[in-house]
Amino acid sequence: MKRESPAAAVDLTAMMEAILAKVRVYNLQADEDKLWFGFRFASEAHAAQVRKSGEPFFTHALTVTDILADLRLDVDTLIAAMVHDVVEDTHYELEDIRQRFGKDVAHMVDGVTKISGIRGVNLEARKAETYRKLVLAIAQDPRTVLIKLADRLHNMRTISHLAPDRQQDIAQETMDVYVPLAHRFGIARIKWELEDLAFKVLQPERYFEIEAGINQTRTERERLIQRLVEPLQQALDEAGIACAIKGRPKHFYSIYRKMKAQEIGLDRIYDLLALRVITGTKADCYHALGVLHSHYPPLADRIKDYIATPKANGYQSLHSTVRIPGGKYIEVQIRTEEMHQRSEIGIAAHWRYKEGGGADTEDLADMVQWLRQIMEWEEDVDDPREFMETLKADFFDDEVFVFSPGGDVFQLPRGATPLDFAFRIHSEVGFRCIGAKINGRIATLRSELHNGDTIEILTSKTPNPSASWLEIVRTSRAKHHLRRWIRTTQFQESVKLGRDILERDLHRGKIRTKDDQLLEVAQQMGYTELDKLLAAVGRGEVSAAKVSGRFAPHVESAAEKVISRGRELAGNLLRRPKTGVRVAGEDNLMISFARCCQPIPGDGIIGLITRGRGVSVHRVGCSNLNDPNLGPERLIDVTWDSPADQTYTVKLIIQAQDRPNLIMDISNKLSLTNTNLNSGDFATEDDMARVTLVVEVRNLNNLETIMKALYKVPGVTQIDRFQLGVSHS
Ligand code: MN
Repeated sequence: MKRESPAAAVDLTAMMEAILAKVRVYNLQADEDKLWFGFRFASEAHAAQVRKSGEPFFTHALTVTDILADLRLDVDTLIAAMVHDVVEDTHYELEDIRQRFGKDVAHMVDGVTKISGIRGVNLEARKAETYRKLVLAIAQDPRTVLIKLADRLHNMRTISHLAPDRQQDIAQETMDVYVPLAHRFGIARIKWELEDLAFKVLQPERYFEIEAGINQTRTERERLIQRLVEPLQQALDEAGIACAIKGRPKHFYSIYRKMKAQEIGLDRIYDLLALRVITGTKADCYHALGVLHSHYPPLADRIKDYIATPKANGYQSLHSTVRIPGGKYIEVQIRTEEMHQRSEIGIAAHWRYKEGGGADTEDLADMVQWLRQIMEWEEDVDDPREFMETLKADFFDDEVFVFSPGGDVFQLPRGATPLDFAFRIHSEVGFRCIGAKINGRIATLRSELHNGDTIEILTSKTPNPSASWLEIVRTSRAKHHLRRWIRTTQFQESVKLGRDILERDLHRGKIRTKDDQLLEVAQQMGYTELDKLLAAVGRGEVSAAKVSGRFAPHVESAAEKVISRGRELAGNLLRRPKTGVRVAGEDNLMISFARCCQPIPGDGIIGLITRGRGVSVHRVGCSNLNDPNLGPERLIDVTWDSPADQTYTVKLIIQAQDRPNLIMDISNKLSLTNTNLNSGDFATEDDMARVTLVVEVRNLNNLETIMKALYKVPGVTQIDRFQLGVSHS
C-alpha cells in the first residue's frame, strides 16, 4: 500500500463536497445544512487528532460516511457516521450529540461506541462479547450495524499502518464477527471486501498465490467468456428478453475456500468462470433460464431457485451451472436489477432514500423482532461464548427449506433435525415429539433435514423431552426451550435429592427438625428459600454436614458408635457399587464409563451394550458411536442417578500462549475451585503451550465452573474436554 499524503494536503471540505454530490443523486431533498452542521462539529472535535497513517483523524469518519452514501442511506445515518467517534475519542458526551442531532443519531453513536469499547485479553471472549453487543445494538437500531461495518471496512483498508500482531487480531475478528454479520444482513458488497482484506492479512502467501494465478489466466478466461456471451446475448435478444450479461468478478477468499473444500487446484474451480444476467422482470428471469438451458445443458443438481425461496438474508437469484463446449462448466446467475441491488446492499435497502417513501418494512420488522427474541433468550445463557455458539446456526449458516405435511414452507439452518422442526412449529409439539417421518418414512430424531423434505412430527399425549436432545438440536429456539425445561426439572430433582441426603444426615446425627427451622438455617446461610438450599445440597454444592452442623450436635455414646458403624458396613455390603447411572428398566447390569469420551453427570449420555462388559456409558455425540457396524439394538437409554459425593475423572486439554508462571497460575486457579488434580502434563511448541490435566469433577456444572476459572488465566486460548478420535492439536 502506498503512503497516504501528509495531513496538510488532505482537503476535508473537498471530501465532504464529494459526499454531498453522491447524496444529491439519490435524494434532492436531503437537509444539506444539517449535514454541514455535522461536518463542522465533528471536524472541530477531532481537529487536533491524527491517524497512524499521518492523515487528520477526521478523514476516517468522512470515509465511513462516504461508504454509506454509496449505499444511499438517509441523512441521520450519514450524520451518525460523521460523528461516530466523537464520544469515544473527544471530550464530548452522548448528550452533546443528542442535543445537536436528535435521539436517533445519538442512539446510533451510542451503539457504535459501546461496541468499540470492548477490551480483554482473551480473543475468543472478546469476540463473543463484541458479537453480543452488536446484536443488542442492532435490535435497537439496525442502522448501527451499517455504520459499524463501514467503520471496520475503512479500518481494514488502512490496516497496514498498524503493528503486525494488531493486524492479525483485527483481521481475525473481522473474519469471525463482521464478515458473518455482513453476510447475514445481505450486504454482499461490504462482505466480499472485508473478507478479501482479512484474508490478505491472515494468509498472505495463499492470497498472493491466488492473485498471481488469476492474473496469469485472465486473458484466456476473458476470451472464453467473450465466446459465450455473444451467442447467449443473441439468443436472449431473439427471445425478446431485455437484459445485460456481465462476467462476474470473483473474490479471492471465496476461490480459496472452494479450493480447500474440494481439495482442488485453481485450474479446476468452475466459478473462475462466472456470468451474471440482469433482467427487467421476474418472469424474464425464468424465461432467460429456459433459453440458457436450451443452449447449454445444466448440471441437474446445480439449479437453485432463490427467487421462489429467498435466502434468510433476503438474497434472490436463479443459479445454474451449465456445460459449455470443451467440457468445462460455468455458473450463471440470473436476476432482476432490483434483486441485484438488494443483493449488494441487503438490509441497507430499508433506509435507502426513496422518492415518496414506501420502503417495504415488513422484512425489517421481522428481523428486528427476531433479534429482540434472541436477546430475551440470551438471558438463559451465562457464558457469552455459549450464546455465540447457539446463535451461530441461526445467524451464520446456510439454510434448508422444508415442508410441513400441509405444504407450508419452513426455513431452518443447515444441519437442523426433525426436533428443530417440531420446536419451530410449537414448543408443545417439540416437548411431545417422539418421532418423525421424513418424506413418509420413519426417521430418527437425529436425521439431518435436506432441502425439499416433508416432515411429519409424531407426538405423544404427554411431554417427554430428554436432556440429550440439546446435542441434537441446532436452532436457538429449540435450545432455549430445552434449557429452560432442563433447568426446571433439574432444580426439582435436586431439591428432592437434597432433602433425601439432608434427612439421612440429620437422622444419623439424631437431629429432629421441622421445615421452619430448616428455613431459618437456609436464610442464615444466605438462601431466600428452603428449596434453594436443598437444591444446593442435591447438586453437591453444600454438604449435608454443613447444614446439620448448624443444629445442636448429638454426641454418640460408645455403644451407639459401634452399632451405627455396623449398620453402615452392612449397608455397604448390601448395596450394589454405585455407578451413578441407571439403565432404563434394568437393575442388575454392569456399568462402566467409556474412556473415549469420559461422561460426567449433566452430559447427555447413551448406553452401549458391550459383549461381556455390561453397559458402557458414552456421551451423546461420541464419535465411537458413529461406527456403522453398531446396530441400534446395541444402544440403550441411560440416565444419571448420581450420589452428590461421587466424583468422575475428566481429562482437559488447555491451549495457551506460553509464558513464565503459566503452570503455577493454572494450578492456583484450580486449587481455588477446590478441584483435585490427578495428573498433569505440559508440552510447548513455538510460543504455544499445551497443558493436559486429569481432574476429578462432580458434574457438568462443576466442570464448567472449573473451565470458566481456567479461561481467566491470562494466555489461555482454548480448553477442550478429551474425546478420543478428535484431534486436539
Ligand atoms: Mn471509527
